[in-house]
Amino acid sequence: MMIRTPLEDWIQRKISKAREDSVPLTRYFLETYQLQKIRENLLYVRENSPFYRSLLSDAKTDSIQCFEDMAQLPFTTSGDLINHQFRFLCVSQSIIERCVTLQSSGTTDHAKRLFFTREDLDHTLDFFHHGMSTLVQPGDRVMILLPGGDRPDSVSDLLSRALARMAVQSLAPGPDPETTTDAIVQQGITCLVGTPVQVLALARYRCGENCLNTRIKSVLLTADYIPVAIANTVERAWNCKVYRHYGMTEMGWGGGVECEARDGYHLREADIFVEIVDPKTGKPLPDGEIGEIVVTTLTRVGMPLIRYRTGDISRFHILPCACGTVLKRLDQIAGRLSDGDCLVSGMPLALPILDEALFSLPGVNDFKAELSARQDKDCLTITLSLSPEADQDAVATVAREKLMAISAIRRTQLVIEFPQFGISSIPASGNQKRILSDHRPQSNRRYSG
Ligand SMILES: [Zn+2]
Repeated sequence: MMIRTPLEDWIQRKISKAREDSVPLTRYFLETYQLQKIRENLLYVRENSPFYRSLLSDAKTDSIQCFEDMAQLPFTTSGDLINHQFRFLCVSQSIIERCVTLQSSGTTDHAKRLFFTREDLDHTLDFFHHGMSTLVQPGDRVMILLPGGDRPDSVSDLLSRALARMAVQSLAPGPDPETTTDAIVQQGITCLVGTPVQVLALARYRCGENCLNTRIKSVLLTADYIPVAIANTVERAWNCKVYRHYGMTEMGWGGGVECEARDGYHLREADIFVEIVDPKTGKPLPDGEIGEIVVTTLTRVGMPLIRYRTGDISRFHILPCACGTVLKRLDQIAGRLSDGDCLVSGMPLALPILDEALFSLPGVNDFKAELSARQDKDCLTITLSLSPEADQDAVATVAREKLMAISAIRRTQLVIEFPQFGISSIPASGNQKRILSDHRPQSNRRYSG
């Protein structure tokens, strides 16, 4: 029988404490709690954050009686985070334990800064503890391939401490796939946590004679868009269960994690409230409809966020989860608003489509995709990162076939080139390239440790 997500009991305990009595978790109690927290939060940020005092000066914060009333509140954007930085703070800088800088264009002038107090970090640690209990049991050993290493209060450190609460030991990876694979075998690792591209590189290492098969019981993919092609490849390579986690630094790293059903994210609903809105109009959408994920923090002390536009695209499932929880279920992330680019013809070309086409090919560990216009034609330049054993010519041929099967590419007669293999047909006209995707370990789009 399927075990209900452990997040439900955890959230029930958190909320019961807040209500000073103990009641079984129902949607009604959870949503009553969320509305109360939203109202308290609005008063708190208006009182303490210079940014929100100004942004919400006209908002009737005490009139939030139902979630539909949220629509009258303005959004917070990533541009606001870049432009107002310290003005978001609700507390003195002296009690900030961790400041994370997210570079958006290579300079600190255009960086987001996220501030966390000890209490904020403890909320995340608590979520990691209960979320990971779906994947691991006491005695398991986890390798954490996330940024931050052993820096205090980095995402890796918080996860490691959360696991220690469950008597689960965690270890850091080696500098390359070979030493990492050796360490997994020698240390008896049973679970991996990492970005999709990192884990894929391990799954494809020593292709064919995979020495990790049957050693790894579970894998948590996180910190980036998770292509189905990568999750499937990892499951097949190691005969293990792949779970997905959705989060971003703005949420305090943790957002939601799959249960045993592995069919959508259960969110830390006592700490965050999530809306789905129409990306163009900003209008909230009903469950089942696809739109942009907007997050309001409920328990953040240092830097709460009100209706923060994440740029991520998803929807809430309408049907309840097979695990039987009352928690909502967020569908797989369909990509980011910024992932898409338009071809000369006006046809959209979204990065996740390239991800699914290329990551399904044996030998492809990562890729870089650039779009440029040449002689009035779009040119897609692909640079592949291949496993050492891969047959370069064969992979380039199959990759070309896969890309040509994408309707946006086929219908616009896009030119595809692989310069690393000498496949380049039309001279460049000097137009600037638009980078669709850089190699993922460097760009690491959602997380900074
Ligand atoms: Zn579930």
